[in-house]
Amino acid sequence: MSMTETERRAQERIHDRFVKALQHEPIPCGAPICHAHVETVELSKVRDRIKTFQFHCPECGWEDTISGREDVVPPWDDAMLLVMADEHLMHQQPLCPFDNTPIVFISLPNPRRRARYRLACFYCGRQGEMDWPPSESKR
Ligand SMILES: [Zn+2]
Ligand SMILES: [Zn+2]
Repeated sequence: MSMTETERRAQERIHDRFVKALQHEPIPCGAPICHAHVETVELSKVRDRIKTFQFHCPECGWEDTISGREDVVPPWDDAMLLVMADEHLMHQQPLCPFDNTPIVFISLPNPRRRARYRLACFYCGRQGEMDWPPSESKR
């Protein structure tokens, strides 16, 4: 099943706003003639794999609520995780290879006293975990 061009463009606009909200960047109002920036509230809970944001324009009252699109098959493979880890080590922003959403690194409590990270894409819901620094990583 393929999306029509109109659906694809609408989805791109939603994804663009989603990424800006995720990175706490200013989001322009969606109303055609309004030039204000919207206020953003995150509706999702800490443990949700997919984030949901609500926008409200203080100028014109425009409102919208957007969520990621859950899609966790196929999962990230080891090669993808290592690329993300390497980019993180190089102080670059790794992106989910399936939807180009910035990956969030969450440090986990680890009883073995090694650093451990959860990598999360809050758009598609894919997650992975790895010890840190990743042992196979070549620097
Ligand atoms: Zn507005
Ligand atoms: Zn993703």
